[in-house]
Amino acid sequence: MDDSTETPRLAQDGLPLLKDVINQYGLMAKKSLGQNFLLDLNLTARIARGGGPLDEGTIIEIGPGPGGLTRGLLMEGAKSVLSIEKDRRCLEALAEVEAAYPGRFRVMEADALELDLTKEAPAPRRIVANLPYNVSTVLLVGWLTQIAEDPETYASLTLMFQKEVAERLTAQPRTRDYGRLSVLTQWLCDAHHLFDISPKAFTPPPKITSTVVRITPRSKPLAPARLTTLEKITEAAFGKRRKMLRQSLKSLDVDSMALIEEAGVRETARAEELSVEEFCTLARCYDAMLGNG
Ligand code: SAM
Repeated sequence: MDDSTETPRLAQDGLPLLKDVINQYGLMAKKSLGQNFLLDLNLTARIARGGGPLDEGTIIEIGPGPGGLTRGLLMEGAKSVLSIEKDRRCLEALAEVEAAYPGRFRVMEADALELDLTKEAPAPRRIVANLPYNVSTVLLVGWLTQIAEDPETYASLTLMFQKEVAERLTAQPRTRDYGRLSVLTQWLCDAHHLFDISPKAFTPPPKITSTVVRITPRSKPLAPARLTTLEKITEAAFGKRRKMLRQSLKSLDVDSMALIEEAGVRETARAEELSVEEFCTLARCYDAMLGNG
């Protein structure tokens, strides 16, 4: 039989297979955009289920690429998906998905680093994304900053990170991975490891394993503190994580011994031994010493 007359095979959602989409639209992965694509709709549907409930509010996806996770979200019943993509080459391919799901999916060409997502979709909004690794932590810190202002900014964030970053988000005190990102994330949110994804699942395969994490904002932070102060204290403390606090906090513009004493933490403790609540106490005492309201 002549191959050219064969009807193309379709995926379970009735749209072309993702590998055919990539070929048809010439979506060869660009490293500069952190492009590693997932082509298995069963897998993207699993990520989508981890990001639910999908039938209320808007699901915001960063970096749809050829549309694997987007289609997973829509197959799993997402009522309204807004995807933000920086790579113009993907838009034509995504227009096919828009046509297949009228009124349920919209794609926007934009740089997620420059966008305030609250202006693009009303609450409740959830972020579900296979993030470009080169900007994943910058994006997360930006969203955490918004959550610090208002915990209802996002109902949840279900995000794929490099495993090593994911481990930092969920790390507990006295572990190697516990650091600034653990404190800031856990201060504001509950962070859960959902599952790992092997490099083999991606095209092209990255060098590292990936992990899907579900981050749910707490109704209020674990303890009172100002975000900017907490950032300053954790930067000083973890900047010299092998040193005792009496040494590492010397870089702050207050009497570090007085601060440590006021906060009631051990001066010989190291940053990784302090709980999130203890960092918050340090932040509050620091602000009190400087007379910051
Ligand atoms: N969601 C697709 C998947 O799971 O197969 C693609 C994920 S790929 C890891 C990351 C995607 O983010 C790429 O499509 C890339 O073009 C896009 N991207 C990279 N930087 C971006 C930015 N600053 N703003 C929006 N999208 C970006």
